[in-house]
Amino acid sequence: MKLVVLKFGGTSVADVPQIKKIALKVKEEVNQSNKVIVVVSAMSGITNNLIDLVKTTSETPSYTEYDVVLSTGEQVTSALLASALNNLNIKARSWLGWQVPIISDKSHAKALIEEIKTDNILEFLKKNQVAVISGFQGITIENRITTLGRGGSDTSAVAIAAAFSADRCDIYTDVDGVYTTDPRIVKSAKKLDLITYEEMLELASQGAKVLQTRSVALAMKYNVKLRVLSSFEDLPGTSIIKEEKNMEKTEISGIAHSLNEAKITLSGVPDQPGQAAEIFGALAKHSINVDMIVQSSSINQEATDITFTIPETDLIIAESTIKKIQKKIGFKKFITDTNVVKISVVGNAMRTQSGIAKTMFETLANNQINIHVISTSEIKISVLISSDYYELAMRALHSAFGLDV
Ligand code: ADP
Ligand code: ASP
Ligand code: MG
Repeated sequence: MKLVVLKFGGTSVADVPQIKKIALKVKEEVNQSNKVIVVVSAMSGITNNLIDLVKTTSETPSYTEYDVVLSTGEQVTSALLASALNNLNIKARSWLGWQVPIISDKSHAKALIEEIKTDNILEFLKKNQVAVISGFQGITIENRITTLGRGGSDTSAVAIAAAFSADRCDIYTDVDGVYTTDPRIVKSAKKLDLITYEEMLELASQGAKVLQTRSVALAMKYNVKLRVLSSFEDLPGTSIIKEEKNMEKTEISGIAHSLNEAKITLSGVPDQPGQAAEIFGALAKHSINVDMIVQSSSINQEATDITFTIPETDLIIAESTIKKIQKKIGFKKFITDTNVVKISVVGNAMRTQSGIAKTMFETLANNQINIHVISTSEIKISVLISSDYYELAMRALHSAFGLDV
């Protein structure tokens, strides 16, 4: 008997008619004599509404209470789906994160899963019932509810698949697989039948939200057989695989974009050793990930400008953190820009081929798109540009790298 984990995202459980359709999909798996664990997201839009709601109480609400509010979205859908399954005469029940339990660390709003205790669910599955687990949720050893960061239900599903050694983990969503870029923005995006964990990891970490980055990292670590499929159409989807040998060889695997970016410039930073360590150390203490960094060289060795990017969602806390050390550092101005998007070209080709940066910069220049910041790694080049031009940039780059269908 196989054990399968099926995860349904927000649009797949957007309303009760949709939940009833999902119940039929789950029924098909049960009819094939599989043991089934389902992981659900909140109905689409609900998590955003809950964030707005909790922010009406305070601009910087306590993250412990923020998590309790946000977790309610997934609580509702797990119970609704269990109820819809019962209505089809399939025995099922909802399981909240704490009931499993899914133990996480204490980093509220972006908690990391530490352990999933399997006894309760294994006992339950023995009775041939379907476990419908609320995604996105964890519980600390101090019994506080946590959430796993935006898009975290993917990570719940993969972690559960790993903990229960599931035969496969199917991520059902509103597109029929992983594409060379976001198919909602670039109509000529190409669907990939296969993609390696490594390439998927890089695309996701650069903003391709079809899978949360941590879910791909987990799948890679625990060898979880992962697929991305459409909830709405019966299509083969994309398999995330280990080996590249069977893959259609593409030079560039895709173009990703991230809207959740804020650019910060500290101008007039005294040109002395230890300043960068002071600034980025303060941000690290608040678990703020700094991504792109540029420092201008000072002409007279007196003062420099440091520009860097962070997730826009961390801007308020970053601003208060840095302003607290303004006197100590002695910089003159704190300037922010949230009207920016990061566009990344991702692919193994970067390791071996020269000229990829040239093509990228030329394409942007030909479209009159100004680059604010550049960063590179072994398998990606990223640029920060004005959000006014990101769709144009994505289409132009997709075409320039020969990815259009
Ligand atoms: P869910 O609610 O099911 O978790 P998400 O909205 O989180 O769905 O992720 C699916 C979305 O990811 C798609 O609707 C698509 O717009 C976006 N997306 C971004 N990059 C890609 C890509 N490379 N391939 C497929 N979808 C992508
Ligand atoms: N509901 C959460 C979010 O919108 C988690 C998820 O959908 O994966 O971020
Ligand atoms: Mg998602």
